[in-house]
Amino acid sequence: MSKEKTVITSRRIVMASGIAAVAGAVATRAARADDKLAQTVVQYQETPNDGKKCDDCVNWVAPNACKLVTGPINPNGWCVAFAPKA
Ligand code: SF4
Repeated sequence: MSKEKTVITSRRIVMASGIAAVAGAVATRAARADDKLAQTVVQYQETPNDGKKCDDCVNWVAPNACKLVTGPINPNGWCVAFAPKA
């Protein structure tokens, strides 16, 4: 390989590494900024589902929040992430 080709290849490797590092940093920051899931993602609803409701879920945080899902949560609501308290 000529010296010129070696230099160009090395620059491409450095550029590709830099782009990958930036993409990784952005993804990490986005994950940290949005720790909770949107209500639409977990199909949250304001009513119980077959007797299952938020205040019976391990993720429930009284009086109106959830460890996993954003926004105010109704104690009588439900979502697909429901996990019953032991
Ligand atoms: S059912 Fe869903 S929204 Fe309700 S407390 Fe559990 S995880 Fe949160």
